[in-house]
Amino acid sequence: MTTHYDHAQVQEFWQYVWERDDVYALDADATDPTYVLGMFPYTSGTLHMGHVRNYAITDAYSRYRRMRGDDVLHPMGWDAFGLPAENAAFDRGTDPESWTQACIRRMREELETMGFGYDWSREITTCEPEYYRWNQWLFKRLYEAGLVEYEAATVNWCPDCETVLADAQVVDREDERSESSDQASGEAASSHGDRVCWRCKTPVGRRELDQWFFTITDYAAELHEGLDDLEGWPEGVREIQRNWIGRQEGARITFDVAGYSGAGGGGDGDADRTVDVFSTRPETIYGATYLAVSPGHDLARALAEDDDAVADYIATVREQDPDRVGFSGVETDATAVHPLTGAELPVYVAGYVLEDVGTGAVMGVPGHNERDHSFAREHDLPIERVIVPDADDNGGSGTETVEGSPYTGAGVLEHSGEYDGLESGVAGERIVADHDALADDVTYRLRDWLISRQRYWGTPIPMVHCDECGRVPVSDENLPVELPEFVRTTGNPLDAAEEWTETTCPDCGGPARRETDTMDTFVDSSWYYLRFLSPALADAPFETEVANDWLPIDLYVGGDEHASLHLLYTRFFTKALADLDLIERREPIRELVSQGTVLYDGEKMSSSKGNVVTPEEYGAETTRLFVLSAAHPEQDFEWTANNVRGAYDLQQTLYRMATAFVEEGDARVERRDHDEYVAREIDRTIAAVTAEYDRYRFHRAATEIRELARLLRRYREYDRPHGDVYRRGLLTLAALIAPMAPHLGEELWNKLRGDGLAVEADWPEPDHDASQYRLERRLIDRTLEDVRDIVGVADIDDPERIELIVAPDWKYRAAELASRTDSGDDGSDPVDSVVDAVLADESVAAPDPSRVAAFAGELVGRDGWDGEEGRSADRELAILDRASWLVTDEFDAAVTVRRATGDDAQAAKARPGKPAIRIS
Ligand SMILES: [Zn+2]
Ligand SMILES: [Zn+2]
Repeated sequence: MTTHYDHAQVQEFWQYVWERDDVYALDADATDPTYVLGMFPYTSGTLHMGHVRNYAITDAYSRYRRMRGDDVLHPMGWDAFGLPAENAAFDRGTDPESWTQACIRRMREELETMGFGYDWSREITTCEPEYYRWNQWLFKRLYEAGLVEYEAATVNWCPDCETVLADAQVVDREDERSESSDQASGEAASSHGDRVCWRCKTPVGRRELDQWFFTITDYAAELHEGLDDLEGWPEGVREIQRNWIGRQEGARITFDVAGYSGAGGGGDGDADRTVDVFSTRPETIYGATYLAVSPGHDLARALAEDDDAVADYIATVREQDPDRVGFSGVETDATAVHPLTGAELPVYVAGYVLEDVGTGAVMGVPGHNERDHSFAREHDLPIERVIVPDADDNGGSGTETVEGSPYTGAGVLEHSGEYDGLESGVAGERIVADHDALADDVTYRLRDWLISRQRYWGTPIPMVHCDECGRVPVSDENLPVELPEFVRTTGNPLDAAEEWTETTCPDCGGPARRETDTMDTFVDSSWYYLRFLSPALADAPFETEVANDWLPIDLYVGGDEHASLHLLYTRFFTKALADLDLIERREPIRELVSQGTVLYDGEKMSSSKGNVVTPEEYGAETTRLFVLSAAHPEQDFEWTANNVRGAYDLQQTLYRMATAFVEEGDARVERRDHDEYVAREIDRTIAAVTAEYDRYRFHRAATEIRELARLLRRYREYDRPHGDVYRRGLLTLAALIAPMAPHLGEELWNKLRGDGLAVEADWPEPDHDASQYRLERRLIDRTLEDVRDIVGVADIDDPERIELIVAPDWKYRAAELASRTDSGDDGSDPVDSVVDAVLADESVAAPDPSRVAAFAGELVGRDGWDGEEGRSADRELAILDRASWLVTDEFDAAVTVRRATGDDAQAAKARPGKPAIRIS
């Protein structure tokens, strides 16, 4: 007889059975499956603990929903394009394709070893032409819809990776440091402003290149507003997106600009120029002492044509890291007219004004803006105060000047013409309303999505460049534009692929060159969830009808590092596809779980820190059970051998219990009171675990399972167990743990002769109504605690008799009435009305009015009855009766449970939910 659970053997066997029976394939008739998705992994070649945690969560939830009777779509695929594969191939003298496919084989094997239940018939791989042709197809649809732009842009350039980086891929070196250690702030400060490549940590430079963009900014307002409705998303993720989108309310202010050769209608017909600025504080407009435009602004470009100083400045600043530009700037010959005062203001080109923020131009208000103040000090511009702090708010400070530092708070206007004396908020509104040059406006910090990458291992952008026709899309029939063979070169291998780049123009048939930029791999992941719906479809990326029926993703799980990029891009793509009439939904994800980090010695596990624990070390099931039971999915937790041991021991315990029951078969037939208790506790555990799974609280489900196992062991030690009750308890444990530890669940299920496979079994149902399980448990737990307290306080060594006395009916009635009574609604005394109602109810046999009044007086206005419908003396008596064996077992005393009678002095203390206790 073996009572040791050999997980390796068990895993192999059940994995074979599951595959043989194809248990994870989505039913072909499914009409609206529950869609559970983990963020697909980047194909690095090995699973780390973050993956294991992520996929253990989706797997447990998928299995739970399947047992609940849902059709479940739980697919897996590979985020297979990207620079690391190209680098690895370069280093190893292979090619990215072979390298990536080898990584995929290894990772798929690891996932299968873990026993994760995927519908592998839906596997997708983004680096395969069958997938990326649809990136190209969708690019073309976005292009046709005007959502693609090709523009010269100053971009972040990593000299080491030789590629452009999105803003989000440029990080402060400081952040990198503070993440890995808490160094002295002095050192951190000295490195402030170092902007480095997220991947290789090389300082990032600037370059000007023609680039492809998706105009995600067209959707800024909708992306921002939609966040409020994403109730299934963590607030933290929504807040990160809000900040990333950066909505700002303010005013657009138009300045006339004159005084240079391009303006004034003289020369070659160039009309008077105006420059718009955006300000969140239009009330400061009287404090504007200059106008500044970014080096990329149209006006700057126009001025540079005739002004070498301007041209030189622009050239210098555009190659610089924005953080090094500081408050440099160059004064131009142009002047701007203040729209309210008519004053002439100097116009500067200044690097601190960013091209793609707001309008790319600012009115300089040095008295009330930090950055403008710094600029004005550097260039000796006037600093004027037009708002003073409200004297009532902070006495005396109104006399301070703004020369030393700007005043950025609210206050009262001065030197502002007719608006003097007005409170700043009111003044701002009025100034905007009174003048045509100002209008309410909203801007967003969000920038367009730069998708061009000058690298090989990505989706070729399906465009050609023709000298005659310009940029022309490749026709749909000629998709996919497949990657040419990989060549080792320092630059972009696609530029080196001469034969590949030479093509003919789809429009004129003349010679043309292919676009050699490839797409940011975030394009691949922006819509992959749709490809899983119809992965083999040959004439479209996905089936619209299926998408309309099956979306949204019911549960999406991944790390919160994806809050601002992947999750924003996915939302954008979905909205764009909806506007292309390809799908109906505009938000793809209903519930999002942002899983926490697995720590080791307080640090994130990572191969660079050498603190990686691989799943094989402890076996698949122990690892899964541990990562799920250690904490709520969204919390970080520490990997400790001791806690892993706990997960291991639980499996062994359950296995031993099932084995012993099956092999010893020592059971009773007639039912006793305490069997009823165990039967009810099985029901209560089912209800509790179900509620926890519904909310992804696997750690609490695991605790419930442990508790039930403990109870069953105690039950078996107390008395010979009732056969049906005990077997049902063990089968319930097998079913409840199966989503988290499927191999163990299957093994227990099989040993106990459950019907069919556990993976396909029905989720257990309570035999009796268990909806009040919390209330019932509280009554039992509190009563046990009270008995322990009394025994302890009275120092009773060996109690012989313990009596539990349930309160009389009238007290339950009084408590129920009191909980419903709102004091003073109709002027009547709430205590009186409770007393009257209790006395009028003959069924509860109330005693004399003074006792009822005294009790009612204690109750009215107190909480404690909420949600406790159905509480009654009869029920509590029955619950305590069934639980009395626990008291007997713990104190080895005779236990009686009874109702309060007559003028019993002990019974007078009994209350609903709290029986009186007598110990002798
Ligand atoms: Zn780099
Ligand atoms: Zn052409």
